Amino acid sequence: MVESPPGIEGQGFFATSLDSLVGLARANSLWPLPFATSCCGIEFMSTMASHYDIGRFGAERLSFSARQADVLMVMGTIAKKMAPVVKQVYLQMAEPRWVLSVGACACSGGIFDTYSVLQGIDRIIPVDVYVPGCPPRPEQILDGFMQIQELAKKESTRRRNMPEYKALLASYGIE
Ligand code: SF4
Repeated sequence: MVESPPGIEGQGFFATSLDSLVGLARANSLWPLPFATSCCGIEFMSTMASHYDIGRFGAERLSFSARQADVLMVMGTIAKKMAPVVKQVYLQMAEPRWVLSVGACACSGGIFDTYSVLQGIDRIIPVDVYVPGCPPRPEQILDGFMQIQELAKKESTRRRNMPEYKALLASYGIE
């Protein structure tokens, strides 16, 4: 069961805003696209499996097509030569879209402070939530996912038209 959004309740009726209703539906039916390149991806497999069961959050339907995905989950070391691929996947996602950066490597390059490793995916795409750890435990990944759910609940249905959001994308050279 999910909590109902704020609204006015009476006998036989409940009234709320459209934004809240859409947010509730979005937050509980997010389709993740797992972009897993190394060890953090193994933690994600555990997060998917029965013990942690990401299906409890309505997110068991993974999407390997960027066009059908809501949340890009980047898990693992991203080499600089992979960076254009991550960006391409992000660009192919439809709005509204969110990005979860899982683990030290995706967040900051982790222990790989070298010429070949991207020092954080936020150098190429905007990130909504960072999950620390090397590797983060499945509980942490779930916690990060729940933070994305909170964002989805509160996001305006017209986010793509918001000047702040447009400015954020523009700072990454994305129109
Ligand atoms: S953060 Fe640690 S566990 Fe995750 S991909 Fe990097 S080295 Fe592997």
